[in-house]
Amino acid sequence: MTSPRYKRILLKLSGEVLMGEGGKAIDPEVTARVAAEIADVKAQGYELCIVVGGGNIFRGLAAAAQGFERATADYMGMLATVMNALAVQNALERIGVDTRVQSAIPMQSVCEPFIRRRAARHLEKGRVVIFAAGVGSPFFTTDSGAALRAAEMNCDALFKGTSVDGVYDADPKQVPTAKRYDTVSYGTVLSKNLRVMDASAVALCRDSNIPIVVFNIREHGNFAAVLRGEGVSTVVR
Ligand code: UDP
Repeated sequence: MTSPRYKRILLKLSGEVLMGEGGKAIDPEVTARVAAEIADVKAQGYELCIVVGGGNIFRGLAAAAQGFERATADYMGMLATVMNALAVQNALERIGVDTRVQSAIPMQSVCEPFIRRRAARHLEKGRVVIFAAGVGSPFFTTDSGAALRAAEMNCDALFKGTSVDGVYDADPKQVPTAKRYDTVSYGTVLSKNLRVMDASAVALCRDSNIPIVVFNIREHGNFAAVLRGEGVSTVVR
């Protein structure tokens, strides 16, 4: 049964959640485990969109710091998200989940271009739609892409699947006494510069009234549990 609170949700997957222990950018076993968590939730009747990042392969900002032209580096980063989208699609279809990939940068031989109404139709037919290439422009991130797609696809919530279990008042790796928020306001996230998503993505969710649920997708059963209102997460609203 779907959560009465949410019917259509957008899942943002950072590229790093597909990484293996040995630093392999896309680890097939790890990707298969993430896909199984997604399939579990899909089977409960949710309409599900996914936005994938590319940070496990290429980050424009980091590359620019090493001498690449920023815009070119960002396009390379967007291409990395398409690779991740295909990996997630492959892992989901292997376990029987019907999917479509839509890219903000058209590449017809590889996947569909982003067409909002077509994406909506896929969702209505029970397909998972995976959005690649962020917003399709340099100087943005896939966090902004996730907020934008969540808003235009009328999603009830944006779930940010990461490898940490929520939002802390300080970096838990550096401050042992750091506390995890159960809920926190958009305003606090922005004013304290808490690391949830980038500021423009948080502001877009705030303006569209879309809650952001930060949770650990690598923990087995946690995605479904968080949707049931159990499990560990932080809700930004
Ligand atoms: N990117 C971009 N525009 C977008 C989305 C992504 O230029 O709309 C580029 C940017 O260089 C970014 C890279 O793609 O560093 C990978 O995306 P991101 O860093 O958001 O991935 P994540 O951290 O979620 O894995």
